[in-house]
Amino acid sequence: MNARIVTLIVIAINMTCCGNYASAQQGMSDVTIKTHHVAGNIYMLEGRGGNIGVSAGPDGLLMIDDQFAPLSIKIQTALDKLNKGKLKFLLNTHWHGDHTGGNEVFGKQALIIAHTNVRSRLATKQMLFGKEVGPLPKQALPVITFDESLSVHFNGEEIKALHLPHGHTDGDSVIFFPKSNVVHMGDLMFAGMFPFVDIDHGGNVLGVARNVATVIEQLPKDVKIIPGHGPISTLDDLKAYQAMLLGTIDVVRKQVKSGKSLEDIKAAGLSAKWDDWAGGFIKTDGWLEAIYKSLKLPS
Ligand SMILES: [Zn+2]
Repeated sequence: MNARIVTLIVIAINMTCCGNYASAQQGMSDVTIKTHHVAGNIYMLEGRGGNIGVSAGPDGLLMIDDQFAPLSIKIQTALDKLNKGKLKFLLNTHWHGDHTGGNEVFGKQALIIAHTNVRSRLATKQMLFGKEVGPLPKQALPVITFDESLSVHFNGEEIKALHLPHGHTDGDSVIFFPKSNVVHMGDLMFAGMFPFVDIDHGGNVLGVARNVATVIEQLPKDVKIIPGHGPISTLDDLKAYQAMLLGTIDVVRKQVKSGKSLEDIKAAGLSAKWDDWAGGFIKTDGWLEAIYKSLKLPS
């Protein structure tokens, strides 16, 4: 095992912000990649880490995010089974390693596209959960960057990446597939669970709520949604997620206004109606803390 492979595996183990830390530590040999047809030309690959979106059609393949480096061979096998030729483009919705871990492998065959802040974070050392991450080698970095939005005209539709500021991180993009009627939300949506919000890297819970509202305004009623984590979702699922964000922010905001400390707020907890949302990586305590910290950020 050479030093680069060791480094990649260490990155994969450390970068489980949005996945399951314990199972990631046990390695990736147990992971299988499941391919789901979403709608039109769009597929979702589910393995471990952030959901992968794929446009597969006459122009070839375009992929959104690439999970962890040790899964790259399995992901390539799943792409090959779509039988639509080569991977031409890879979009990163944000910098986290459970969405960019395969960049070093897939960057050799495809052009990587991402928001400017994704490239700058991947190109420099970051600290996440007390661990050093990166910098990634040159071939893992985006070669095309943008600040607001970018379109790729591919497989018969205008695939549009739209940057939304200060939500999950400071470099998030949502990817729209208008003809296929699909959207990839990146980690602005954790379907059915409290999200991780990376406040240390420009994220803000209030920004997540604002950005989700911006996306909802643009979506047709029958759209299919690929969340960053969780199953393929509907507009109603996204609206339920928005209601959870707004409802729980409201709970914490009222307590902060009445002078409660974070300890008081955690001790009070949330009403049982939000219990079902605590089944993911972020539990109720962690979610309350993220809201509290976001409310304390300078606006
Ligand atoms: Zn993330």
